[in-house]
Amino acid sequence: MAGTVVVFDFDKTIIDVDSDNWVVDGLGFTARFDELLHTMPWNSMMDKLMGELHEQGKTIDDIAECLKTAPLPPQSVSAIKSAYSLGCDLRVVSDANTFYIETILKHHGLLEYFSEINTNPGYVDDSGRLRIVPYHNFHVSPHGCALCPPNMCKGLIIDRIRASVTKDSTAAKRFIYLGDGSGDYCPSLKLGDGDKVMPRKDYPLWHHIQNNPLLLRAEIHPWSNAAELEETLIQLINNNSSHLVAADCKSQSVLPPHSEPLVLRPLSVQQ
Ligand SMILES: [Mg+2]
Ligand SMILES: [Zn+2]
Repeated sequence: MAGTVVVFDFDKTIIDVDSDNWVVDGLGFTARFDELLHTMPWNSMMDKLMGELHEQGKTIDDIAECLKTAPLPPQSVSAIKSAYSLGCDLRVVSDANTFYIETILKHHGLLEYFSEINTNPGYVDDSGRLRIVPYHNFHVSPHGCALCPPNMCKGLIIDRIRASVTKDSTAAKRFIYLGDGSGDYCPSLKLGDGDKVMPRKDYPLWHHIQNNPLLLRAEIHPWSNAAELEETLIQLINNNSSHLVAADCKSQSVLPPHSEPLVLRPLSVQQ
């Protein structure tokens, strides 16, 4: 539905693992990762590790090939394609980096389904080394949010997306936010009435929300695996479109017979 903006976290939400850990483990740098962890911000540590990978002869192709093997469940793929075909505006908000995310989404033919990817810039420098730089330049202008890591406040990104979609259109915009991590809590608090948050059950975001669900204005719809993610997301999108176009059950009879079953499901069936 044109009025729905679907915002996906990436690691452990679209793919079923953390892409940083996937690369570190896949290229044999787990021990070094463990040494560096907690000595500096995560984002800075990943940039340092990419430098050490490069020094030890790992190429950008080695990293790309490793990323292509990261597990991405088929239901995540179909959820993204269905949401897109239902007219949603899909965006990624992730604390990974552009190189990882674009490599994986391109590999699965999914990149063009997203109107925007908000993440830490990642680029290959002249020597062939992957650089990962913070989304917010926290040395120059700290974002000031106590909930978020210094390099990225996802809540500020949600504020910006909301401002930009409101400016471009007078139609009501409803947000559906999907995530798993602590960094997804701040943007969840920014959601308003009529928005939905889909936390991955038993992951940090879900625990934060469980501590005091009344702090959120958005409806809470947990999921445990990609199959549940797909089913819940499509149901929420269809609910939104039913509300936004004031469709009634009669709309089912005017839809073409070859429509996808999930699209056909009328509001009354879901409640
Ligand atoms: Mg995540
Ligand atoms: Zn924040």
